Amino acid sequence: MTSVADNIIRIKSTLPEGVELVAVSKFHPAEAITEAYNAGQRLFGESRVQEFLTKQAALPADIRWHFIGHLQTNKVRSIIGKTSMIESVDSLRLLQLIDDESQRAGVVSRVLMQVHVAAEETKFGFSPEELLEYFTQAGYRSLRATHLCGLMGMATNTDDTRRIHADFNAIATLRRQILDRCPDLTGFDTLSMGMSGDYPIAIECGATHIRVGTDIFGNRNY
Ligand SMILES: *Cc1c(COP(=O)(O)O)cnc(C)c1O
Repeated sequence: MTSVADNIIRIKSTLPEGVELVAVSKFHPAEAITEAYNAGQRLFGESRVQEFLTKQAALPADIRWHFIGHLQTNKVRSIIGKTSMIESVDSLRLLQLIDDESQRAGVVSRVLMQVHVAAEETKFGFSPEELLEYFTQAGYRSLRATHLCGLMGMATNTDDTRRIHADFNAIATLRRQILDRCPDLTGFDTLSMGMSGDYPIAIECGATHIRVGTDIFGNRNY
């Protein structure tokens, strides 16, 4: 088995300029994160609030954390001000709550809107149509303490690379359509897409962030 450090170095050596690696450490112990940290990795992704808070408290302060899992509204307050990005905003109610809690805490939260284009059914994520409607109606103008940085999404879990291309292209196209409709929207630059099985395709389609877990840390024990 290759080491975590080897995996980090190997993956990073394939990334074009401007593409950032989010090392998805969910379900792996702090020791695994430390191994990646010692290989130079500073950006990690976690998907459960309590696990994230425990790891953050135990690990170096210069780590940047992206929250990538479904965020329950009753847990928003506990992570505000502690992440460098919440990638998984999947409802307007959650967005409003993040904005309210950020304002209350005197911080600005950076977030991505999670868009659902994959074939699998899921409760989480906006449809492209919902997001176009939100942005066309300029709902973002009422945000006071939240910076919308872009989109996060997943491709269909399939071996059909044409379908994977189509899904990632749909996310990239949606970002451009939103920018076309909202000339006053600034810094809406991030496209977080691509995981262990499909990140090279995501990069071809314009990903700025890839979220890789298994390829770095091995299989998760849920
Ligand atoms: C777990 C997870 C990943 C990482 O998946 P791997 O296949 O292990 O690379 C990426 N994105 C999200 C949103 C996840 O929940």
